[in-house]
Amino acid sequence: MKAVVIGAGIVGSLVSRELTRYGFDVSIIEKEADVAWGVTKANSGIVHAGYDDEPGTLRAALCAKGNAMYEEISKELDVKVKRTGSLVVAFNNEELETLKELLKRGEINGVPDLKILDRDEVLSMEPHLNPEVKYALYAPTAGVIFPWDAAIAAVENALDNGAKLFLNEKVVDIEVKDGKVRKVITDKGEHKADLVINAAGLYGDEISKMAGAEYVPIHPRKGEYILLDSNVSKMVKRVIFPTPTEKSKGILVVPTLTGEILLGPTAQDLPPEMKDDLSTTAEGLNFVKEKVVKLMPDIPFNMALKTFAGLRPESPQKDFFIKKSNKVWGFVNVIAIRSPGLTAAPAIAKYVIEKVIEEDLGITLEKNESFNPVRKGITHFADLPEEEWNEIIKKDPEAGKIICFCNKVTEREVIEAIKRGAKTLDGIKFRTRAMAGRCQANFCATKVIKLLARELGVDMSEIMLKSGNTWVVDGKVRE
Ligand SMILES: Cc1cc2nc3c(=O)[nH]c(=O)nc-3n(C[C@H](O)[C@H](O)[C@H](O)COP(=O)(O)OP(=O)(O)OC[C@H]3O[C@@H](n4cnc5c(N)ncnc54)[C@H](O)[C@@H]3O)c2cc1C
Repeated sequence: MKAVVIGAGIVGSLVSRELTRYGFDVSIIEKEADVAWGVTKANSGIVHAGYDDEPGTLRAALCAKGNAMYEEISKELDVKVKRTGSLVVAFNNEELETLKELLKRGEINGVPDLKILDRDEVLSMEPHLNPEVKYALYAPTAGVIFPWDAAIAAVENALDNGAKLFLNEKVVDIEVKDGKVRKVITDKGEHKADLVINAAGLYGDEISKMAGAEYVPIHPRKGEYILLDSNVSKMVKRVIFPTPTEKSKGILVVPTLTGEILLGPTAQDLPPEMKDDLSTTAEGLNFVKEKVVKLMPDIPFNMALKTFAGLRPESPQKDFFIKKSNKVWGFVNVIAIRSPGLTAAPAIAKYVIEKVIEEDLGITLEKNESFNPVRKGITHFADLPEEEWNEIIKKDPEAGKIICFCNKVTEREVIEAIKRGAKTLDGIKFRTRAMAGRCQANFCATKVIKLLARELGVDMSEIMLKSGNTWVVDGKVRE
């Protein structure tokens, strides 16, 4: 059966992988030049424990389940997940009541080992927290990942199992005949389809409209962030949340996988026509600082590496919208996947297959006997024990050639990333972490451009930063 998945974010990537597990002939269509460049690229990267969401919602059902499934994802797809644990801190008795409510919700949602800690326990775990803290809800199963790592790994594994990936291709229409999906039409051509999975993130409403399926409006809710250098990594070990409000989980302090500290996000609703607005604002960043100081008064903002923004795909119905269309047979919406969509994604993929495709659409699933669930990531030599890397370099001196000194990324890794599909500077950055360190590409971008041009057999002037017309070299200063 021919399945077309629209969107290679974390949701489309994991759904595509699951489809190959059952032998579907899968095409993944993505408008950007690489995987995971939509909502999945810019978020807090937290694998939430699952106590936030109201029991009975899909978000609640799939979050704790997805959290647990990251164990298998991590092993099979070679994706790093660090179980840092999280603390929701309370500064008064009113906030303590909210913690108790979250604890109750978490227990109903199946979150293990939740506990309310007192001031001394909290401060012994996180000594840089505001000493006025009174209580905290501790969730040991919370963790952090790099979201794009998981999406890239899932797509690589789907491709190994027979899927096809079409990048730089934008879906512009969907052909429906006799009440069934027939074709997905793009700006480059068309793809026959018996089954269409709409995993287009912020643009999911527009895709659904193209098919004449159920309309769920989506608008962006912006979240602005400040990222601090890894030399302050010792200040915080766990993800720190304030007591949440109705609208958002608040401004967080997140220790990333590689030691940087992420502060944010804001929560600003934007009109639907601003789905591309990833700008940061003085107002937003000042708001982040103001709130962070209340959690951790001595956070050194002068250690900021960069600022950025992400956009949540919000819809009025608040829950994930994961349903077969009742108007168009074979069309499945997997949209309005706001937070905790990253955490829930592995469980969303299973739900799409088992509940929507098998149960609701009545499609018989047949296991692909040759499905291989294992994918190996790019070896980051600096993660190896020093003796091991030294041994490798002794046998093969080229393996010691470093391109990015901040994150100790070797030429080998960059070349491997290109072999696996990176064609842009951002493609290299997300796969290897070259250009993501303290110098923010100042010293290594030219080396990466040269390598990209050499390996892709093109002129340096053709290399782009990301999608669209984002060339980085304009011409020669002198011959
Ligand atoms: C500020 C912020 C913080 C968050 N923090 C967390 C967190 O800590 N933990 C957590 O669990 N979740 C978090 N989330 C939520 C999480 O990031 C999302 O739920 C998840 O990334 C959604 O993934 P997706 O695949 O649905 O969407 P996307 O990643 O946007 O993927 C959709 C893809 O479809 C493509 N596309 C769109 N239109 C077309 C078209 N016409 N043709 C072809 N391709 C198309 C896009 O380019 C995109 O790549 C956060 C979100 C934000 C914004």
